[in-house]
Amino acid sequence: MDEKLYDKILEISLKRSIFIPGAEIYNSVAGFYDYGPIGKLIKNKIENTWRKMFVKKHGFHEIESSTIYPEIVFKASGHAEHFADPIATCKKCKAKHSADKLLAENIGGNYEGVPEEELTKLIKANNIKCSLCKGELTDVAKFALMFQTTYGGDSSNIAYLRPETAQGMFLNFPRVFGTYQNKLPLGIAQIGKAYRNEIAPRRLLIRLREFNQMELEYFFNPEIDKTIEGYEQIKDEKIEIMGADKTNIEKLSVEQAVEKKYITNKIHGYLVFLTKQFYEKMGVKNYRFRQLNDKEKAHYAVGAVDLEVETSFGWTECVSLANRGNYDITSHSNTSKKDLSVFDDRNGKKIVPHVIEPSFGFDRLFWCILESSYRPASDEKKWEWFDLPMFISPYHAAIYPLVKKELLQNMGKTLLEELREKGLDVIYKESGSIGRRYARADEIGVAYCITIDFDSIENKTVTIRFRNDGGQIRVPLDKIYDMVCKFTDNDVRTLEDFEKCPR
Ligand code: AMP
Repeated sequence: MDEKLYDKILEISLKRSIFIPGAEIYNSVAGFYDYGPIGKLIKNKIENTWRKMFVKKHGFHEIESSTIYPEIVFKASGHAEHFADPIATCKKCKAKHSADKLLAENIGGNYEGVPEEELTKLIKANNIKCSLCKGELTDVAKFALMFQTTYGGDSSNIAYLRPETAQGMFLNFPRVFGTYQNKLPLGIAQIGKAYRNEIAPRRLLIRLREFNQMELEYFFNPEIDKTIEGYEQIKDEKIEIMGADKTNIEKLSVEQAVEKKYITNKIHGYLVFLTKQFYEKMGVKNYRFRQLNDKEKAHYAVGAVDLEVETSFGWTECVSLANRGNYDITSHSNTSKKDLSVFDDRNGKKIVPHVIEPSFGFDRLFWCILESSYRPASDEKKWEWFDLPMFISPYHAAIYPLVKKELLQNMGKTLLEELREKGLDVIYKESGSIGRRYARADEIGVAYCITIDFDSIENKTVTIRFRNDGGQIRVPLDKIYDMVCKFTDNDVRTLEDFEKCPR
């Protein structure tokens, strides 16, 4: 683990309220983090970029469903039975350890999906003890990961906090399908909270008990929908992927990865590629795809590919792209005793739709973005800063009167009001040296600094400073809004980028 990077990001995050441990004044419970104002602004913009690429561009539909459902929903989805981690408890200090992770840490290898009895045998054979007090460990047992609650004051009314947003899309599928003319294919997406009672939450935003997901469920008829619009344009693009039974990464076209069955079909391939494009747009470049083997796959998956990122904590799963077959709709039909199959007028048959699901963990993505965009102080910039893509910068602009003079201050405040009125995120500061103000803006990745000086009064122009190289241009006051919008959309980070930006 790169402790230095981890510490530096944590320090800025706390100082500038990017993310903050939950209930911090009460010493916090592990696995809960809040996003402060800066983090929340960045979060909104990342989510909006995801929305644009995964939902709006394709004419899909976003919903917002409950985060609590009665037990029957999770009996049907299989989570009540399958969603559990294998744990070994220390007989001495009572600490609970995730058995597969304990083995991986002690003897290496991957033990995901290995049955409890085998894990117990391996722990005994390798004489593995509690990592905290060296006490002896119990046999491995299942530990349910869903948070349980009850509703209506009756302890037999069991409900769970959702462990994924996906079930909301399956439960709402019949209504949404009807609303949009009963036509397949159909995409339903959701951005929201998910909860998992992790035994060992750790690594800041990587393993949380309450986290955020951005999920898309693409419902299709496998007899007819063999591909998806846009696939032909990207099928020859290259991705780096590791097959389930392989130890090496292969550079393959999307089409080759589908032909080799690393990816289950062309729709799946298209969504894998879209995921790559999204991560690259966010500035995260050190990633790979990995096909999951049968032991690693979730109980609902026919086939699955993860996007893993090499973070300072090692390779970390950040997106899971699963072909869920018709598992969910079939189970909900059986459990609810309602026929959720649909009539597809393209082949005149009743079918149960199949689903491909890209499931993004927001918080892991957020961490990856912070790691990839962190820049230490250097000769060019004497302060640390975040080289965030401009379209996810917390503030579009910071407005600074050069000196504390009423005329400059008034002009700055009028501009501030105008830009805020038009919907931009803007801050204003008049105290401190201009250099110090630029440094504070860079530190949280503010896109552009707008400086008002004496010439501004004379000729109604101001300067726009580009964050990455500090280059400046002088622009008419009445063009600022359009320019800031255009620059953020085109990710203009330097004077050189500006010169290449379409006018
Ligand atoms: P899964 O359903 O386990 O494949 O999870 C889908 C995505 O949610 C993962 O790829 C992660 O990005 C994210 N995720 C899962 N569990 C957690 C957690 N405990 N904390 C933060 N993110 C998580």
